[in-house]
Amino acid sequence: MTLSKAIVTNGDGSFSIKETEIAAPKKDELLIKVEASGVCHTDFDSMSWGQKLIMGHEGAGTVSAVGPDVNDFKVGDKVILNWAIPCGHCSPCSDGHQNICEENSFVTGKGHGHSSLESTICDTQPIKRSFHLGTMAEYTLVREAAVCHLQENIPYTSACIIGCGVMTGVGSVWNATNLTAGSSAAILGCGGVGLNVIQACKIAGASKIIAIDVAQEKLDLAREFGATHFVLAPKSDPNFSSIKKSVQDLTNNRGADYSFECTAIPELGAAPLALIKNSGTAIQVSGIEQKINFDCELFEWDKIYLNPLYGKCNPQKDFPKIQDFYLSGALKLDELVSKTYTINQLQNAFDDMHNGKIAKAVIVFN
Ligand SMILES: [Zn+2]
Ligand SMILES: [Zn+2]
Repeated sequence: MTLSKAIVTNGDGSFSIKETEIAAPKKDELLIKVEASGVCHTDFDSMSWGQKLIMGHEGAGTVSAVGPDVNDFKVGDKVILNWAIPCGHCSPCSDGHQNICEENSFVTGKGHGHSSLESTICDTQPIKRSFHLGTMAEYTLVREAAVCHLQENIPYTSACIIGCGVMTGVGSVWNATNLTAGSSAAILGCGGVGLNVIQACKIAGASKIIAIDVAQEKLDLAREFGATHFVLAPKSDPNFSSIKKSVQDLTNNRGADYSFECTAIPELGAAPLALIKNSGTAIQVSGIEQKINFDCELFEWDKIYLNPLYGKCNPQKDFPKIQDFYLSGALKLDELVSKTYTINQLQNAFDDMHNGKIAKAVIVFN
């Protein structure tokens, strides 16, 4: 039995810090001592999901105990957690689409990714973990399929963000497109995810990386991550005519080969189609799900619109690749973490996130 302080929501819009008791790992479970947990908009949303949860879905830490069926990890190993926990045997997993595993609750509502439900007790009752991870806690119990090895010389605070915004951004370039050396790309929105799209385009050799944002300071940051051209967008841009003209001016009046929407603003869901050339590819990275009106002429001609989930994450392939690029200096992680907080400061982290003061907040333990 391990005692663990955890940030718990009742699903009513609020959270509090609770003492929990975690049973020893069974089967393929690992007990993880969490060192750092990212804070993202989804964590704020999780407080309104109507159920009691240990919060947090982005984490890095060390293995504290292993169940009898764990194969690839031992006590003391450093790990990164991954919320899209693949079952490894369903049809999408077999086809290399682990990110949309049919057995993972995020897509189908099934609970395959859970560690044994009775394993963690809060207020005398078993409690679930957000995305089967619950990283906003001193310890968490997860299945082996939810962890990847963390290499040496990567700080936990930088590693913990790999398994969400970094993966979503870089994977949308590396896994969802055929973007190659010499390609042009327009990136709409230069927050945390947009910056990762930009640095993945740079690594892939894109010759023209056009950063678009309404805030000059975001464009300045985009330059540090590899953007080559910059468009300061107007706050209001009916039919995307202003940004479209700016991108056309930069691409011989043709439009970009690829355009990535990274704003999470529903009205901009169709905008990447306006920024690409005929036969170009528009990628909606931000996860917009709302109903929007748009003109089908935006698809003319032969344009493709993709909506990859979590950068088509294949953790065993992608997490080592991201770490290798970081260690070689080609990919920035430290610079994405604006500020760290203690477990008692989640409200401050949410406030800073909502005020747009920071790119990424991270909670550190100890
Ligand atoms: Zn996240
Ligand atoms: Zn599966």
